[in-house]
Amino acid sequence: MPEEAAYVIIGASLAGAKAAETLREEGFTGAIVLLGAELERPYERPPLSKGYLLGKADKSSLYVHEEHWYDGHGVGLRLGVTATAIDPAAKRVAVNGGPAADGGTSIPYDRLLLATGAQPRRLDVPGGDLDGVHYLRTAADSEALATALAVPPGEETRVVIVGGGWIGLEVAAAAREKGCAVTVLEPEPTPLHKAIGPELGEVFAGLHRAHGVEFRFGDGASELRGRDGRVTGVVTSGGAELPADVVVVAIGAAPDVALAEAAGLEVSNGVLADAALRTSDPDIFAAGDVANVAHPLLGRRVRVEHWANALHGGPAAARAMLGQPVSYDRVPYFYSDQYELGMECSGLPEPGTYDQVVYRGERDALEFIAFWLDGGRVVAGMNVNVWDVTSDIQDLIRAGYAGRAVDPARLADPAVPLTALLAPAG
Ligand SMILES: Cc1cc2nc3c(=O)[nH]c(=O)nc-3n(C[C@H](O)[C@H](O)[C@H](O)COP(=O)(O)OP(=O)(O)OC[C@H]3O[C@@H](n4cnc5c(N)ncnc54)[C@H](O)[C@@H]3O)c2cc1C
Repeated sequence: MPEEAAYVIIGASLAGAKAAETLREEGFTGAIVLLGAELERPYERPPLSKGYLLGKADKSSLYVHEEHWYDGHGVGLRLGVTATAIDPAAKRVAVNGGPAADGGTSIPYDRLLLATGAQPRRLDVPGGDLDGVHYLRTAADSEALATALAVPPGEETRVVIVGGGWIGLEVAAAAREKGCAVTVLEPEPTPLHKAIGPELGEVFAGLHRAHGVEFRFGDGASELRGRDGRVTGVVTSGGAELPADVVVVAIGAAPDVALAEAAGLEVSNGVLADAALRTSDPDIFAAGDVANVAHPLLGRRVRVEHWANALHGGPAAARAMLGQPVSYDRVPYFYSDQYELGMECSGLPEPGTYDQVVYRGERDALEFIAFWLDGGRVVAGMNVNVWDVTSDIQDLIRAGYAGRAVDPARLADPAVPLTALLAPAG
């Protein structure tokens, strides 16, 4: 009997699982194979640096679907199976791992989705492989870190976090909540500098300082020292020596492009995809952290490493795989929770994309909306401890990209409804 060519998805995480779900919702009745290198069925990563790390969320709350969902929907979920090569001419994916009965060594595909995500960047310094040095990407990483952060009664656990990005700061908050002493090393002048610029970076620095975190800006890790194979300290590029029982490396993630690259797909900071999430091969699509997408609204390529992009990008790619017209133009969105601060951010306010920041509300009381403007046009907005405003903020961003400027004074005035800012004059 000839093998049935399937819709194959490489990467069994949020983007891949949501793509499989959408294929079925859209009425696709052919074979779906979902390949996952991890042993866990698809789960969500945001709690790994928040509730799950703190022991406030249990494991069952992480999963994207119930265990029986995959069988129930005819989705061939193969865990512990790694795709090792793609042959675009023969339209086959080579795999290894998993039980021998689980598909042999190569799978034919009709359409292929790359949802391989990203991997933490490694800290390449002497001592980088000592015990007590942690990375955070998987549930197992989070469990290991939770154990390491548990402070024995009457003792202090000293944690040095290398990198003041989102994950570094969320781990800092969790470590402080667990009673650890925390120092964050960050080469830029503020945390989150590359993600949201110095103005809002300063807000987060203040929040963490108020909770007892020590920052060392303009500094990084140049060496990790240890005794008996365990880390005992960090030597910084500025020459300081910081004692450490635990080191967390949070210096960003690199898209997992090895397969795509070897298959001859166009790759540059991710797998290049058009607005329909189609790669340079018409039968191969990419979604989630790995995809570098020509964004129709922003007018530039973006690779978005956030939950909402996997949640919506997987389904968008699935619809494109089915031949439906797709223009993936959602406003990028992400969220974070640290101590008493909860926030949502729409748009990508990287330095160089804006010339003004406008605040509405009480910045110092951590209850405000920040807007990033470029030439008077709103390009991004962050609501901090203010809720149910995301869709209004995203309307302002869409209007901004359509060329409409707003009056910064009215934008800053909480008495003016956000919806009124776009109302026709007069
Ligand atoms: C600790 C942490 C906290 C986060 N917190 C937030 C947050 O608060 N807010 C927010 O917006 N975003 C957050 N994110 C980001 C969000 O989780 C990611 O954007 C999202 O997980 C991306 O999903 P993905 O499906 O594209 O890729 P991933 O989740 O990276 O999954 C890719 C999967 O593909 C598998 N894979 C790779 N190569 C192969 C192969 N060759 N064969 C088989 N399988 C393969 C990998 O093992 C992995 O399971 C957080 C991320 C982390 C790590």
